[in-house]
Amino acid sequence: MPDFTPPALLDRVYQTLDINADTQAALSRATQTLSVGVPLRRDDGSLEVLSGWRVQYDTTLGPAKGGIRFHPDVNAEETTELAFWMTIKCALMDLPYGGGKGGVKVDPKKLSPMEVERLARSYVRAVYDSVGPNRDIPAPDVNTDARVMGWMVDKYSNIARRREPAAITGKPICLGGSEGRTASTGQGALHVLNEWMKRQEKAPEDTTIAVQGFGNAGAHFAMLAHQAGYKVIAVSDSGGAIHAEDGLDPQAVWQHKNAEKELKGMVYCDSSVCEQDDYDTLDKGKLLSLDVDVLALAALQNAVTDDNVGGVQAPLVLELANGPVTADADATLQDNGQTVLPDVLVNAGGVTVSYYEWIQGRTGDRWSADEVGDRLKRRMTGAAKDVFDRMEERDIPAREAAYGIAVERIANAIASRGDEAYYRG
Ligand code: NAD
Repeated sequence: MPDFTPPALLDRVYQTLDINADTQAALSRATQTLSVGVPLRRDDGSLEVLSGWRVQYDTTLGPAKGGIRFHPDVNAEETTELAFWMTIKCALMDLPYGGGKGGVKVDPKKLSPMEVERLARSYVRAVYDSVGPNRDIPAPDVNTDARVMGWMVDKYSNIARRREPAAITGKPICLGGSEGRTASTGQGALHVLNEWMKRQEKAPEDTTIAVQGFGNAGAHFAMLAHQAGYKVIAVSDSGGAIHAEDGLDPQAVWQHKNAEKELKGMVYCDSSVCEQDDYDTLDKGKLLSLDVDVLALAALQNAVTDDNVGGVQAPLVLELANGPVTADADATLQDNGQTVLPDVLVNAGGVTVSYYEWIQGRTGDRWSADEVGDRLKRRMTGAAKDVFDRMEERDIPAREAAYGIAVERIANAIASRGDEAYYRG
């Protein structure tokens, strides 16, 4: 059993659902961990060889699927953990994928745009043999965006000597990307929140939200939630937080934050939400303890830990980031009667639209924004209903319900090919 996933949670899922031993063995470790040196020629002519990884955790349900992260904290263990969560997420969403993840240990904000491009291409060269449209399909994650995916698919196609749009998802639309991909994680999270609020009989207009992490996932969630009538009263990024009791205009904040990046064509932008004069600034840690109805966590993992969980007042915590609440903090929130809607459900909009992009890349078809939006809404709402129904029927937390559905799907696939019970007769 992976030691990073709350062992008690997986144990409970295995026991209560009588999951076959083959599945437990299959999910006990990654299928493949590729560790690579990623050469990077710096602008000054020097050569650095960075550490990179690509992990395929489990491929029972299909080729591995998962993002690529450029961050100084990337390591083999974290990449494995994220690949395991992708395995659960894809199974929960009933996508024909297993779980994968990749990354390079680097601070991309210290690189020039040309160095980032060389890094993206070099990473693809390093992992080329183990990825591809039927094998393992990368996508963006922290500090990698559509432009980076464009460079990556170009490199993949150069090496393959043919166009391979389905090898990478999250590409720019003009290079074979899908309508709706950029906002898909935030949009998917909003569908989950809407379904939850419907069950609580609470209107968006009466619901306040604070968002930690005003990046791709968090900013789109905030903008779409605002459009849907929710009151977003605080947002933060690594530079700080802003707050307005009557509600912010997330669209204006996003435009302001990105103005410099767009002006200079920069890959990374260090400007922060708190550089704006229109709103009060707040210590970014304090955002977590605001008296709001919904706390949306969209930065990085381990944002809510034993140390700060006591301050969290929101009755509902939405995990847009992967693993933002530690296992201990999760248990504390549960004991306090607070609900945590888990990452494997809440942020699954991204991989779902990646799946639509992959289909379009394989068939040559182009779907309209409305078509993508309708399909995403149906799939997210359906998955949310499945999780919430199971929570109610079995009186279990949302995370346990989500893991149960996912692990059952993987177990059924393994059993259908013959498991221990079948061979023993
Ligand atoms: P991003 O880099 O665009 O945004 C992350 C944001 O968090 C940035 O604005 C950063 O400044 C902020 N941040 C970092 N540390 C912070 C702190 N201590 N306090 C407040 N803000 C802080 O990345 P992203 O793509 O939005 O991803 C965010 C999370 O969502 C990650 O965990 C990622 O794995 C997960 N996720 C993203 C997607 C997607 O499609 N983008 C899909 C699934 C999951």
